[in-house]
Amino acid sequence: MKRASIFRALLLVLLTCATSAGVLAQANRYARDPKQLVDEDYTKKIKEYTTEPFFLSPLVDYLPASKTVPTPKAVLGDIAGAPGTLPYTAEVHAYMRMLEKASPGRVKVFSLGKSEEGREMIAVAIAAEPVLAKLDENRARLAKLADPRTIKLDDAEADRLVQLSVPVYYIAGALHSPETGAPTSLMELAYRLTVDESPYIKAIRSNVITMITPVLETDGRDRQVDIYKWHLANPKDTWPPVIYWGKYVVHDNNRDAMVATLALTRNVIDFVVGQKVQVLHDLHESVPYLYDNTVGDGPYNAWVDPILTDEWQMLGWNNMSEMTKFGMPGAFAHGTFDTWSPGYLMFIGAMHNGISRLYETFGNAGADTVERKLQPNEFARTWFKQNPPLPKAMWSQRNNNNYTQTGLLTALSYFASNDKLFLKNFYLKSKRSILKPGVEGPAAYVLPADDARPGAQAEMLRVLQRQAVEISRATAPFSVTLPVKKARPRGEAEGGDKTAEAAAKPGDQKPDAKTEEKPKTETKQFPAGSYIIRMDQPYSRIADALLDHQYWSPNDPQKRPYDDTGWTFGELFNVQVVRVADAKVLDAAMEKVAGVTVPTDIKGTGAVFLVNNDADPSLLAFRYRLKGASFDVAEEPFEAAGRKFNRGSFIIRNAQTADVQAAGRELSLQAYSVESAPAVKVHPVKAPRVGYIHTWLNTQDEGWWRMEFDRLKIPYDYISTQVVAREADLRSKWDVLVFPPSGRGAQQIVAGMPMWRNPLPWKTTPLTPNIGKIDSTDDMRPGLGWSGLVNLEQFVRQGGVLIVAEDTSVLAGTFGLTPGLSVQQPTRLNAPGTVMRARIVDGASPIAYGYGGDLSIYSAPGLVLGVSNTLGGRGGGGRGADAGPSRPTGRGTADDMDQPQGRPVVTPLPEEPKVEAWQAARVTDDQLRNPLSVIPPEQRPRVVLRYGDASSLLVSGLLENGNEIAQRPAVVDVPLDKGHIVVFAHNPMWRGETQGTYGFVFNAILNFDQLNAGRKLDEK
Ligand SMILES: [Zn+2]
Repeated sequence: MKRASIFRALLLVLLTCATSAGVLAQANRYARDPKQLVDEDYTKKIKEYTTEPFFLSPLVDYLPASKTVPTPKAVLGDIAGAPGTLPYTAEVHAYMRMLEKASPGRVKVFSLGKSEEGREMIAVAIAAEPVLAKLDENRARLAKLADPRTIKLDDAEADRLVQLSVPVYYIAGALHSPETGAPTSLMELAYRLTVDESPYIKAIRSNVITMITPVLETDGRDRQVDIYKWHLANPKDTWPPVIYWGKYVVHDNNRDAMVATLALTRNVIDFVVGQKVQVLHDLHESVPYLYDNTVGDGPYNAWVDPILTDEWQMLGWNNMSEMTKFGMPGAFAHGTFDTWSPGYLMFIGAMHNGISRLYETFGNAGADTVERKLQPNEFARTWFKQNPPLPKAMWSQRNNNNYTQTGLLTALSYFASNDKLFLKNFYLKSKRSILKPGVEGPAAYVLPADDARPGAQAEMLRVLQRQAVEISRATAPFSVTLPVKKARPRGEAEGGDKTAEAAAKPGDQKPDAKTEEKPKTETKQFPAGSYIIRMDQPYSRIADALLDHQYWSPNDPQKRPYDDTGWTFGELFNVQVVRVADAKVLDAAMEKVAGVTVPTDIKGTGAVFLVNNDADPSLLAFRYRLKGASFDVAEEPFEAAGRKFNRGSFIIRNAQTADVQAAGRELSLQAYSVESAPAVKVHPVKAPRVGYIHTWLNTQDEGWWRMEFDRLKIPYDYISTQVVAREADLRSKWDVLVFPPSGRGAQQIVAGMPMWRNPLPWKTTPLTPNIGKIDSTDDMRPGLGWSGLVNLEQFVRQGGVLIVAEDTSVLAGTFGLTPGLSVQQPTRLNAPGTVMRARIVDGASPIAYGYGGDLSIYSAPGLVLGVSNTLGGRGGGGRGADAGPSRPTGRGTADDMDQPQGRPVVTPLPEEPKVEAWQAARVTDDQLRNPLSVIPPEQRPRVVLRYGDASSLLVSGLLENGNEIAQRPAVVDVPLDKGHIVVFAHNPMWRGETQGTYGFVFNAILNFDQLNAGRKLDEK
């Protein structure tokens, strides 16, 4: 070796030893400080409650002692993860505040806001004293890295800021209420990070600001703890499932990160964006023993920066590598979770230029220690699970806490060692988000000023603003160049009618394809006032991901999508959104918009008020706001006040201008006042009395409906299937019964839970103060029962309207409430949460008011409906696009007529008009001879909306065998005696995303006693 190179080698050694990362890279990265005092009592308990030595690691097999800082025992009475110990939200928070009080230099508690039920959410920041003292200065630097426009995209300045800054690693737990281990894990983790003087912990404190939200779903946590306490008090009994977690939804609180309808989601977005967080690490429990799904499986979300996917690999594999060295079984990184949907809470990090991470640890839904036996597929060794979980093991909450903390401590240590790298990546991702228009594009999305649905447009823009997306508005008309859309999108998934293009193999491209492929363009002008969502902004990715279309190939190796495959916002909000690649759009004259509003000042001075029906979800709420006024609804379009009004528009009398104005402002609706009412056919609409039915099986899906009823302040009585079973005269109390999907199937809705063993109470008691508030029962087990079915039928026969969707539609169809409508589950269709095209069939039906032509619906996968004019009939044409030639075997060509031999030619009957898949077959003269099973024309099902044609059914997501549902009815109004059952094949109210289809539900409610309006009856 030459002298120069020896010198370089020496220098390298010196440099390596001088950095903390270098020290930690040595033999025992996690060595304790020899002078570290240990809390012997606590440590003894850790070992006692851990069921096997290999369920422990050197990172958590002791608890450091502190003379001044209390351990979690101060609140819990025992150690974290002790059997039988599950703290309430308030206790967890109380401990975090004790920590802050005892160690103000290292701990700071933030309030994130409140839940729907008013429980506070917090985050605890932990860092070394010098870091915490300058938290604000640090955040100001992070803000510059988060928005590189502020430093003119100057990389040198970014490097300088990176060197001065400390990144934020944000850990959050207890989003899913029955996953109970995170709060105590995080209490103890917070304590360790505050007091432990091991070199690696000191490095974490100095190089990372760890932020912790110990309980995300605060309402659900308290209900879960109630149930656990009930279980401890009644150890021999089966315990009730936690039917409500948050006020509205159950596990879907982890699918809310797109629309951010829930308070907890909004609080987390505000915190992540406000604190400029680099990592959002969410804690869950399901599979043994620790699945770090940061690496997960494909397909990855198509809008994230590849720098992020690289970070997922680095963090995930390193984490498992460290756990492997501790000999902890069942820790793995690869798994079945795909990262396609941006709806997961952790994705708030991914979509705001940070990093998303998630652990699934193993838990017992409570703090009992129990023997857990696994399935062979869970304990088998696989390529990514070389030290798999054990076939059976005693499992304790302490084991869970050990795994969680060990994973997090190693992750934090790795992150601390690479703090500058991750900070630089944060800057690069932010910068690349701003450079989007000039690289992958698009340049912007434009929402035209002349959209027919200004209220829906404003609502969608407000969702984007909630995501911290900047919105601009054109101050003058502008034009851009757009590609001319091909008539039919490429790559349709349907089996039946593949186009030649889609069927072509990749290899057999024509030699002249290139010259033919020159894309055609057109110039499109947008009016002043159009909204522009520029992609040269730091949070362009979330806007792009939400507004773009999704395509999931049926040939994708991932056969089990983890969640919805399509969500395109413009389609589901029924709002025009134009993707513009032409960078010229960025030069249009525009100004940034603070709050998105629509004009609502009343135009005119007459005594009659007009409000257009554009299927805005607020229209129903408007009726309730002006309860005393008289409302007529136009059955035909009309012109007045110098503009056009759609069918279903309101004509309001006996209302004070000030009241109409106030309701319009609140609900973003524009009213016009005229001297006299237009001459148009009308019917009156009252403010209906709504009963809203839920089951005691599951409140997940109904919660999404209920949330929107509450948001719009639409009054209703919240009743369970048990009330429906008891109440013989439903009609005297309600005009409309809304029965959203239960997700558990028709039979179970009727049967309820098994009646064996003990009753399952859901009510407020001193032992369970947090449950029984939303609704209560002495026993959750009884279902709708036969009496409930009878009562529902009576309700409809007496003039009530019952609204059903998905499995409650199956219920109505299965138990004979829908004469002439067959309701079946698809057998081949694969559409796991897909956006599909649909078409209005009967625009004169009040249910379709405000709609026109085509729109998109969310369907997962949807029901196969068929209508018939006879009872027990096989429904309509049904064969749709599949229908082949109809002539029988015989002489001549396919178009010729057959001819029996040896007799003269007989003129055939005139051909019956074709019956489409959404139509009923015509009644034959033969059936009418004795029309026992022929449904009278006014009692026949009326199809309002149908699924699109197979060739254009797919809008976004995954669709296979779409021809099974193509052209089939999607919304059907089924008369039954004096009332109606409104049947949805799909779910029209889903996760706040499907605001474009709420109008069907709300129109049905509003026009409950006028649903036959505009109906054309069959002649026979
Ligand atoms: Zn979970």
